[in-house]
Amino acid sequence: MVSHKEALRRLIEGNERFRAKQPLLPPDDLSQYVAGQAPIAAVLSCADSRVPLELIFNQSVGALFVVRVAGNIAGDSQIGSLEFAVNNLGCNLVVVLGHTHCGAVKAALGNDDSGVPPSMLPILAEIRTGLRGNGTKPEPADGFAATKQNVVHTQNKILSASTILQHETTAQTTAVVGGLYDIESGKVDFFDS
Ligand SMILES: [Zn+2]
Repeated sequence: MVSHKEALRRLIEGNERFRAKQPLLPPDDLSQYVAGQAPIAAVLSCADSRVPLELIFNQSVGALFVVRVAGNIAGDSQIGSLEFAVNNLGCNLVVVLGHTHCGAVKAALGNDDSGVPPSMLPILAEIRTGLRGNGTKPEPADGFAATKQNVVHTQNKILSASTILQHETTAQTTAVVGGLYDIESGKVDFFDS
């Protein structure tokens, strides 16, 4: 089992390899994964195609338990998936990853929902809840602050909704860490490291 500190170190080093354009080849033998999985980190990120998690963290098959949804929000199915990774797969690190130029955050900052598919409106409502959280709604131009605030809101929501993760983080066996991926530089900055 990989500790959350060791897992975070591997993600930071993997992101450095990605930025150095070091390739990652597929494993020779896929049969090694049949018996089960032991991911080092569970990552909740945006569904944006410019944020391919295994690539940006330079991680191979079996390393990342990935949960993706537009705007990296935490609904019941996202929280349940993260709980499964921690409780059943021995994963000790949960990462909530936002990214620059996020369309979902941009849409949440706007006032015109006329072009938004109806089923996406609850996603925007959830992001807006996070943006209102500290009482200072960022200006629409300030997408960076809003994106960071959305990540922190998701972190807080996961911890308030999940007794499993509350227990694990209090015992310091698991860490829930927020981060931001810059789609231009390829760098991931973790808030708590
Ligand atoms: Zn996004």
